[in-house]
Amino acid sequence: MKSADMTRPAAVIFDLGKVLVDFDYSIAGRRIAARARMSAGQAQAFIGHSPLLARFETGQINRQQFFYEVQRATGFQGAIGEFSAFFADIFAPIEPMVKLHAELRKRGLPTYIFSNTNELAVDHIRGNFPFFGRFNGYVLSCEHGALKPDPALYEVVEAKTGRRGSELFYIDDRPENIETAAGRGWQVVLHESPDRTRQAIEASLSP
Ligand SMILES: [Mg+2]
Repeated sequence: MKSADMTRPAAVIFDLGKVLVDFDYSIAGRRIAARARMSAGQAQAFIGHSPLLARFETGQINRQQFFYEVQRATGFQGAIGEFSAFFADIFAPIEPMVKLHAELRKRGLPTYIFSNTNELAVDHIRGNFPFFGRFNGYVLSCEHGALKPDPALYEVVEAKTGRRGSELFYIDDRPENIETAAGRGWQVVLHESPDRTRQAIEASLSP
């Protein structure tokens, strides 16, 4: 929705997972299970939804500690390099959103990544998808000890961009993440499809 008093955004903030890259932990679950004593479903649940992942994504544990805990729980037989590849090679770029990002850059808008993520995923995405390098800045949960929707992380975005409230336009697929941003006065769109997100941002940018 656009209202008369709405500011033209000065920066666009992108969530990463399910906005710019799709991911599927079942891929990792199958590969890990093939070398462990867990079923693929159990391995997927363990790495994708466990409290362990939250510890990794808040930087409480590093990749070696994460690997050690997975090894202990699943009986994974391989080395850390093999595990890291299995764990991280689960992403695919969402091309219409990568294109939208490139267009916003071309129009001179600063863009930022704001993500709950971990160092293995970030290394993989940075190494494989060139678009990831083309943002003005990155606010990654694993570097700040907090997960969205913790307001502390939104404060980091405001500090890094030097912008606040309706100067920021934020795209995320999770309602709870959007809600916290909206509560701070950011312009938001709940990402449901590239077309709808594009329409929302065009409406916000049009004079
Ligand atoms: Mg997401």
